[in-house]
Order: sequence, then structure tokens, then C-alpha cells
Amino acid sequence: MTIPPIGMTPDEIMATLRSFKTHDMDWQSGRVFAYVYQPDETAAAVVRDAYMLYLTENCLDPTTFPSIAQLERDVVHMIAGLLQGDAQVAGNVTGGGTESILLAVKAARDWARAHRPHIAQPEMVLSRTAHAAFHKAAHYFGVKPVVVAFDPATFEADVAAMRAAITDNTILLVASAPCYSQGVVDPVPAIASLAQEYGLLCHVDACVGGIYLSFLRKLGYAVPPFDFSIPGVTSLSVDMHKYGYSAKGASVILYRDRALRRYQMFASTDTTGYTLINPTVLSSRSAGPIAGAWAILHHLGEAGYREIVATVQAATERLIAGIRAIDGLFVLGQPAMSMFSFASNDINVFHLADALRRRGWFLQPQFSTPLSPRNLHVSVTYGVAHNVEALLADLAACVDEVRQAPPTDPTLIQTLVSAIARDPSPATITELMATIGLQPGRLPQEMAVINDVLDALPDAVANEIVIDFFNNLY
Ligand SMILES: *Cc1c(COP(=O)(O)O)cnc(C)c1O
Repeated sequence: MTIPPIGMTPDEIMATLRSFKTHDMDWQSGRVFAYVYQPDETAAAVVRDAYMLYLTENCLDPTTFPSIAQLERDVVHMIAGLLQGDAQVAGNVTGGGTESILLAVKAARDWARAHRPHIAQPEMVLSRTAHAAFHKAAHYFGVKPVVVAFDPATFEADVAAMRAAITDNTILLVASAPCYSQGVVDPVPAIASLAQEYGLLCHVDACVGGIYLSFLRKLGYAVPPFDFSIPGVTSLSVDMHKYGYSAKGASVILYRDRALRRYQMFASTDTTGYTLINPTVLSSRSAGPIAGAWAILHHLGEAGYREIVATVQAATERLIAGIRAIDGLFVLGQPAMSMFSFASNDINVFHLADALRRRGWFLQPQFSTPLSPRNLHVSVTYGVAHNVEALLADLAACVDEVRQAPPTDPTLIQTLVSAIARDPSPATITELMATIGLQPGRLPQEMAVINDVLDALPDAVANEIVIDFFNNLY
């Protein structure tokens, strides 16, 4: 593709873009149980309008656009209050959960440089159920991730294992409320008091749960404690663009106080250029996401969030009961809210995901670990809640379909995995993966066999394969 010599009209542009979308999955009708968090159309329009109103303003310089600083303070204080923080709590709006977590880990590293100067190689202790964003932060900032076991029955972080993993180099303990993968809340009070005992920081990843769980508690559900009401919690991440129902590009990072938040920031007066002061990772960025977050909080209000959470929780309970009633499927751990995963003892759930996809449904495949089986993740949101019965009907039909289909030759997977183990060179891997449909530069339609192989390979090898695949995709 080249830049057209003469530009297209606005109508042509929009018609062309709309035509591109026809090959994407249809989230508008509520059949995608991940990635998309959709409120009702009135609320969605409020977010869109607020976003567009601030599309062009730049967060880079609050002295030029003071209203952006005010919107950001308002969003941070509303979320800090919801998470039971006091007036000392300080924070920022970031571009997403990953950025909030990157910043929490960066702040912890720089806090340790000041307060634990003997540490040359800082470490953070986290359960295998914690989000991959912590591994990304570790990779970016030179912090060593020390991954410990979880309880294979409940999927909660194993606090005794966390204690055993603490060394002289530990700076940070991580807890999830809940973990994305299985929707299980870790024992945050125990992890936070362990952090206090050793003089460590404790980050609670409430990216997906911070807003939802707070309103679930207000509705009278038994929600385990996870927020600033627990003294040892030093930072918290909460995504506005998930169960806050805001537009993508909005999350909140909160610290117990400004002294700790200071380690998040970066400034440079070292160049010939303008004075650069960045609280967050990016520098120039649209104020649209902040305005969208401010708008949805004010539009829904407490009453709106309560109603949405009540609807979504009822749909989740129905879905979990329906899945438990399907022969061969079981739910992993004890999910605390509207997200969970399920596995099967007798059918291959990767094939089940493909069968559902052929009927227009998206559930998210997740790989096995030494303590857990491969499984499918389900996030129930307001925009999909009305489709629970329809999903259950197709799920039951697809389970039968997969059970009756001729199974993939098990030696095929084993032969591929052994061949890659013998010769893990990029050329061999590309050639072998192409035989099962993973071809450079092309998006596969059927994922089951590819996932079978990736799941069977060591994590380090699978990571290289998916990096090479994406490196060839664009
Ligand atoms: C979604 C999520 C993240 C990452 O957030 P992004 O907005 O996708 O960057 C981190 N932790 C948890 C628990 C999440 O659910």
C-alpha cells in the first residue's frame, strides 16, 4: 500500500473503514466474552462525546490546558474514595492497566534505590496467577520476577510460598483482586501484612476488580477485603476502561501517599528542548480518555454502577450454574466476580473455542501450568449479559460436537514438539508451525492445534514463536 496521490472524500474513507470491519468479530451483538466492555447506548454516547471534545488537547502540559489537570484530579479522587483511600492517597490516570502496573513497579524500583541501596538486583514476589504485565515490567525495568505457586483448588496466591520466596533483595509483593485468568481474589490482608513484616511495598492489582468488587460489596455481597482499608497496601491499579465502562486508554494508579508516588515520575531539563515532566510513561497524549472516564463516572453515578453490577452478577451466576450443569465441564477455583474460567476432563477446550467461534462466540483460550489445566476464560459484561442463555445452548451443542469429532492425532502434537526440542532454530520452527496453519504474515482461522503445540512447548520457546509470528505480521 502507498499513500494515495489524491485524497479520498470523508464519505469514501468512512465507507471503506466500515467495510474493513466486516471481517472482525461482532462484539456489538454481545457475543465476545473478552476485550470489550460495553455500557448501554446512552452511556456509550456520553463517553464518545466527552472523548471527542478532548481529542486534540494534550496531557503533556497542564499549564496550557488546566482543565485536563482538574479532570484527572477528579477521576483519581473518585476512584481513591471508592477504594477506601484517605486524603493522603495520590495517583494519576494512565493509558491502561499495563501502564499502571509498569509505573507501580518502576516506583518500587526507584523507592528501593533510595531506601534499600544495598540491593543490586531487586526482586518482586508474585503468584503465577498474576497478570503478565508484571513480567513485562520486570523485563523493562530490570526487576527479577520470583513466581510462586498458588493453591490449585482455590487459585488463591499461596502466602506461605510467598514468605519462603522473600530474600534480602525483595522490594515488592504482588496481590491480585482478582486475577484476570480465573477471577479469584488473593488473600490481600495476609500478603499486605507479610509486606509490612519485612518492610516491603505491596501492590494490589485491582485493574479489573477495583470498581466492580467495590459496588458488589455495596450491593451486600460478601467481598473479601482488598483495598486501602488494609494498612500494608501501598499501591493499587484500577482500570477505567474495563468495568468502569470508559473508552480504552484509561486506568488509575494510586499510591498510599505522595512520597511514594514521587518515584513514579520523570523530568528532564537536560536538552535544548522544552522542559519535560512526565508523571506517566507517555509524554504527548490525547486528553480524550481522561474526559471519557470523568464523563462515565458522572453519568452513571453510584446508582448506575450498582444497577450494572447487579445485572452482570446475576448473569454470571446463571452462566456458571449452566456450565456446571454441562457434562464434562468444570469451573476453576472460586471466582469472586464476573470473570472465571472453565476446563474439561474429557474434551479439548481449544477445539471447543474454535467450535464456538464458528458460531460467532469468542471465549479466550488459556494455557495449562504445572498446577492447572488448559481452560477457557469468560468475562461477563453489561453488553453480553442478555446472551447468557444463547451462549449456554451453543456451548452444550459444541461440547457434543467436539466430543463426537474424530480427535486430532495425538502423535502429531508430540512429533512437532519433539522436533522443535531437537532443533529450536527459527527456520525449523517456522517450517514446522506452518504445517499446522501458523504461517508468517497470515492470521490463522483455526487455533486449536496451534494452541495444543504452544501449550506443550516450554514457555521460553512458545514466547519466541509468538514474538516471531507478530514480528512477521505487520
Ligand atoms: C486487564 C488487566 C491488566 C492489564 O491491563 P491492560 O489495560 O490490558 O493493559 C492487568 N491486570 C489485570 C488483573 C487485568 O485484568
